[in-house]
Amino acid sequence: MTLTPLQELAQSLVNCERCKLATLGRSQVVFGVGNPQASIMFVGEAPGFNEDQKGEPFVGAAGKLLNDLLASAGLSRDQIYIANVIKCRPPNNRDPEQDEVETCKPFLLQQIKLIQPKLVCTLGNWATQTLLERKVGITKVKAQAFHLKDFVLFPLLHPAAALHQGNLLPTLKEDFKKLKEFLDKNTKPAEPANTTQTPTAPVLNIESPQPAQMDLFG
Ligand code: SF4
Repeated sequence: MTLTPLQELAQSLVNCERCKLATLGRSQVVFGVGNPQASIMFVGEAPGFNEDQKGEPFVGAAGKLLNDLLASAGLSRDQIYIANVIKCRPPNNRDPEQDEVETCKPFLLQQIKLIQPKLVCTLGNWATQTLLERKVGITKVKAQAFHLKDFVLFPLLHPAAALHQGNLLPTLKEDFKKLKEFLDKNTKPAEPANTTQTPTAPVLNIESPQPAQMDLFG
């Protein structure tokens, strides 16, 4: 069977040992999952225990919360693609280290290049800072659209943060409402059903990229 370029990339990472996370207790590389033609990607930080066991990003409690939040924005998992910045579980769910991010980040960028999403929603500080390439707190930039060169970035809090700190949940829900407003404004009316295409990926009609709003980064 001929592999797609995305499948080839996944295959090339199955036994990846490019950074030390390969030797720190991972069960498997968690590449990403979802619709390879998605116009919307979600990017988290790194696999946790459940993700490491199952080989999929965002399973377990954080995944369930993400599914509920996606539904509130009119989205489902089969419409989007989900990946993490780091593909292997850091021990004891510690934060990724800079050398691990630098080593693994090119594979996220390749995923983005192959999927060509118009919108990338980063979940939490790590993913946001990695794709914005600058240190900026998530609370300063969340729920806003940043027009980067190849896609629009829409940072959101990480669902796991709302599980750990219940007071963040209303904010996260509110931010997904803003995501829905953004999607409603930028989604073309659905085309008549075409049974030969992968179903239901929303068609985003985002205006041509504008410079990132640098003033927000201080
Ligand atoms: S985290 Fe990334 S770079 Fe490190 S071993 Fe896993 S796939 Fe390779």
